[in-house]
Amino acid sequence: MIKIVEVGPRDGLQNEKTILSTDDKFEFISLLAKSGLQTIEVTSFVKAEAIPQMTDAANLFKKVNEKLGKTQINFPCLVPNVKGYEAAKNLGVKEIALFAATSDSFTKKNVNATVAETFEKMKEVASLALQDKVRMRGYISTAFGCPYEGKMDVKKLLQVTESFFELGVYEVSVGDTIGVATPNQVREYIKELKKNFPVDKLAMHFHDTRGMALINIHVSLEEGIKTFDSSAGGLGGCPYAKGATGNVATEDVWYLLQSLGLETGINISKLAAASKFILEKVNKKTESKFLTAYFNTGKV
Ligand code: MG
Repeated sequence: MIKIVEVGPRDGLQNEKTILSTDDKFEFISLLAKSGLQTIEVTSFVKAEAIPQMTDAANLFKKVNEKLGKTQINFPCLVPNVKGYEAAKNLGVKEIALFAATSDSFTKKNVNATVAETFEKMKEVASLALQDKVRMRGYISTAFGCPYEGKMDVKKLLQVTESFFELGVYEVSVGDTIGVATPNQVREYIKELKKNFPVDKLAMHFHDTRGMALINIHVSLEEGIKTFDSSAGGLGGCPYAKGATGNVATEDVWYLLQSLGLETGINISKLAAASKFILEKVNKKTESKFLTAYFNTGKV
């Protein structure tokens, strides 16, 4: 079984200029929940000025928890600081995502702090989460390459991964934020990670900016990775990385995995329905090759 972490409602929508209503976001999440996905990242408890799309984080999570909270589905939320953590925790969020990067230039532009400083700030959130038994997952941006610093050294990735495990996260998601990773680099970096950390605590988060996402996933599978982040319809980008197109589409990942005989628990027609709904709301065509073919032919 391969675990898919659906990041469309958070990572996907945060980059969309069209501000959606809470009801539309909830409908999207509700459709995703029907597709069999077991982990759906709901929102981000950031400052409204930082990402306007996430202003309704509290209301959206409240609704998700009310209507879908009794399912087995995991609904993590991203939190950037103690204030966001407390808001999330008080609403019953059971899992939070923390984020860092390997590049100081990237974090400075993004949150006006160095990588080391972002970890200092996260320590307080992490100690609260540990006390409250709220699960934590760590995201590492720019693991392979940075829009400002170019190719990133694997040593930085190892350091940041270590720092995350020291905070007490159960899993680290290694992100190719701007979609520059290539298969050989992915293999090399995962091999280095595996020398230091258990492979079942590592996830990969690819963007398809240069068309390398699926081959990078294939390489990751060969290296023993069993968790991947993806976004329904390929929605997304990165508000802090110009020109970074969407996350790899969940549908494309599904097509690859099922061709390899790997189970995800996803019902593809239901997932495609969720993507269709949200793509219409943001008035976009999908970047997913599989989904385009599926919409055109009605067949897998
Ligand atoms: Mg992403």
